[in-house]
Parts: sequence; structure tokens; C-alpha cells
Amino acid sequence: MYLKSKTNKISNIRFGFATNSSSSHSIIIPCSPRSYVPANDEGAYGWEDFCLTTPESKQYYLKVMLYQNLKPRPSINNFNKLYSGVDIRADNYVDHNSFLNFPKPYMSHQTMIDYWNWLNKNVIENSDIIICGGNDNSDRDSMQEGDKVYNGPWTSDYIERNFYFKIDPTGFLTIFNPGQYKYDDFFYTSRKLPSKIRFKGINNEIPKFGLYPDLVDYKVTNACLKNCQWCYQDSVPNGKHADINLIKQTFPKLRDMGVFEIAIGGGEPTSHPQFIEILESAKAVGITPNFSTQSTDWLKKKKLVKAISKHCGAVAFSTQKAQEAYKWYESCAESLVNFDCSIHYILGAEPIENFRKFINELCFYIKSIKDDAPKNPINVILLKWKECGRAGKQPYSIAGWWDIVREFRETRNSYVSIGVDSFLVDDVEAHLPEINKTLYNADDGYFSFYLDAVDQYIGKHSSMSKKDMIHFDDVNLINTETWSKLK
Ligand code: SF4
Repeated sequence: MYLKSKTNKISNIRFGFATNSSSSHSIIIPCSPRSYVPANDEGAYGWEDFCLTTPESKQYYLKVMLYQNLKPRPSINNFNKLYSGVDIRADNYVDHNSFLNFPKPYMSHQTMIDYWNWLNKNVIENSDIIICGGNDNSDRDSMQEGDKVYNGPWTSDYIERNFYFKIDPTGFLTIFNPGQYKYDDFFYTSRKLPSKIRFKGINNEIPKFGLYPDLVDYKVTNACLKNCQWCYQDSVPNGKHADINLIKQTFPKLRDMGVFEIAIGGGEPTSHPQFIEILESAKAVGITPNFSTQSTDWLKKKKLVKAISKHCGAVAFSTQKAQEAYKWYESCAESLVNFDCSIHYILGAEPIENFRKFINELCFYIKSIKDDAPKNPINVILLKWKECGRAGKQPYSIAGWWDIVREFRETRNSYVSIGVDSFLVDDVEAHLPEINKTLYNADDGYFSFYLDAVDQYIGKHSSMSKKDMIHFDDVNLINTETWSKLK
């Protein structure tokens, strides 16, 4: 099934889910007039061609799909009473090859009825969207040809059933794929699918901020053996760890706020004596923990590696050296099979030419040491130097980093992918206009915030002054009201 669009109303989908099968249904927003086959009026959507253009016919189709999604399934009478619109019959069906998995509610106060109401307003009542179905085994023109396909807030991948939605009070919907899933007793991350997709609201405005945050940058310790002179967090070897009881109390609060994932940092997060417990407790409430590290020692600790592989979505290693970065990638590939492992590289810590060398050397290592290109490219995330803590003034100019990225993009190297932190987004907008804007957010604090569990502060981001953050004595202060004061 596909959705298509004659206008660009839903262009803020970051990545799409595709449905390809022998019986292939499409939700389409047509580009040009064409003649369509009539809708199936039996409520059976299978091998035969159909095209649904009226709100009633689209609603019938999606309602049949919704009914097939519900577990446990209510009686058809109750279902028709609970979910607005046309009544469907219990024997209606959508062909199994075209079945779509709808996301589950993430926030406790939202239900599938909220999702259904969102679909009604944004898909069913939207006259630009039509739904087409049929099979792709014939020679006739593809129903997708010339139109824009809208891969909606659902997935067709049978493994990826555990993904969630939340609907912001301002009208837009976000879906989240927690990344980890278990299959045949192994844990996998789903890097082929997006982890998060934010849809526009009913007026097709791109949401600028949310009332429910998606992400929290979470500090668990101020201890780090490296003692770097440029540490913007002022971390020291005997730095304080956050209290585990306090940490555990914050997770349900974050979950209540709608937070999907946390980026754990420090200090060195793995030095926290209860690091495994931290990961377990975040995951236990449904939040996906990720973390950044400056150490590789933990890769030798089997229990820790097992917990990371079971609970985390991604891990990033901070280094300025290509060989170290590659070694990290190799160790991860051995210990954390199919895991999302990234590199953090700080721009401004060294002359900009070193960045070019770093990227080229990293590509060289991967190419020369590996017979085949790695299945997943190494993610290099560029971070801007932060002039706080012990860091002081940025020692080197970063001007021209965008040219290096552009050169790199032009070589179409598939071994390395490059991302940036929010402090570099202005440069991206100014110097790399070819990068699709739906791939980044310009402002911290609009869909995310910083939580320092060591000294008990929340702020827009980690490098703002403590005096501009909000201190919390009580975890009950971690709520949407407090967060909105930061915006
Ligand atoms: S947290 Fe990072 S910058 Fe700070 S001392 Fe440790 S390695 Fe150095």
C-alpha cells in the first residue's frame, strides 16, 4: 500500500517505510488526473485493483487495517462504537502481503483512538491523499508512477512491530522505533529503518517545537580518568557520580513527559559503578538509552557488553585519531554484533586540515583492512568546541569544514556517514544548502533538553551556564511545565 501526494505537504518525513509485495496497496496523493478503477465495495482488499478516493472509502480501508492491528481484538460491535466513522464487518480483510503494522501509544494518556482520530484528520479527510491497491505481477502501468508516495505512520516490516507514536497537543505526530528487537534469541538494531519520524500537523506546518520532548542529554557522572585540559564538563578522575536512586526516579518522569531516548554522558559514563543498572532501569520504563564514551576498557567486560547490547540503541566513541576510530569500530563489530557504533570528532580542537586527514585515513583503513565494505557505514558525528568548563576559547578556526564534507559527499564514499551536533546546524544551513532540511533540527531545547543528575539541574543544553539552568531538589519538578520554562 502507498500514499502519494500532488503537493509537498508531507515532506518532513525523514525516511520512509516501503511496502513491496505481490499484492501491493498504495496510499497515493495523485500528481495528475487519471482514471481509476472503482473501490472494492465488499470490504476485501486483496489481489484485485482498487482505488479509494472518498473519505468514506479511505476510512473503511484504514478501519479494517486498524481492526486487524488490535490485540486483543474487541468484538466488532464494540470496535465500531469506539472508533468513529463507517461501520466495518468482522469478515472484512486486508491481504496479508499488504498488512501494515500501526504504532502503539507511547504516552499512558494516549490510546489507539487518538491515533485513529489523527488518521482521520490528516489522511482520511485530506483530499490530496488517495489509496490504491492491486498486484504488481501484471504489465500494466504502476499505480505509483509519477506520484509521490507517502509512507505513513506505520511499517510493513513484520519484525518491527514494537514502535510507538505520541501526538503532540499542537497537532503533529511522532513515531519512534526503539531500535532494539529480539529475534531468535539475538538482539538487533534496525539501522535500515529510521528511529524517529515526525509528521506535520493538520495545517501542514513544520513543527518548530514540541510540548512533549523526544530526547534528553543525560549526565550520570563527573568522573573521568582522562582529565583532559579542554574538558567543557570540568570532569576529573575523582568526580562525583549521580545517585542511582535519584537516576532511577527520573526515568518514569521522563517517560511521562514523552521522552523516547536518552543520550547518556559524563564524565565517562561507564565509570559509574551502577552503569548496568542505569541502562536496565531506563529500558524497563521503555526509554532507549544511548551513551558516549572515551574508553574502550568496558569492551573487555562481558557482563557490561551484554547489557549494552541488550538495552542500548547506539554508542559513540570520542576520538580525534582515525586509527583509534577504526580500532573501536572493529572491536564493536566483534563484541556488539549489528550495533550502531559512532565516532564523535570535535571540530576546533585541531587545525581544520586534520579533519580532512581524519576522514581520508578512516576511509583508507576501512577500505584496505576490510575485504568488503562494512554493512553499516561508520557514523562520524562532528561536535563543535564548547567554550565552557576547562575548555576555554576554541583554539582553531573551523571555517571550511563544510567544504571537506562536500568533497567527501562528492566521492560518494559509502564507508563513512557524517552527522553534526546542533551547534553546527547554522553552518549546514549557510554552506550546505543541498542537505535536506528534514534531516536536522536547528535548536536545542525545542524537542530535547539536558539533565544533570549529578548536581540536579535541567537546561536547554549541556554547555549553558548553570545559572541559566533550573535546579531540581525534587524529581517531581521534572515535568513539561519546567521544561517549557527553558524554551
Ligand atoms: S569527559 Fe571527555 S573531555 Fe572531559 S576529561 Fe573525560 S575525555 Fe576529557
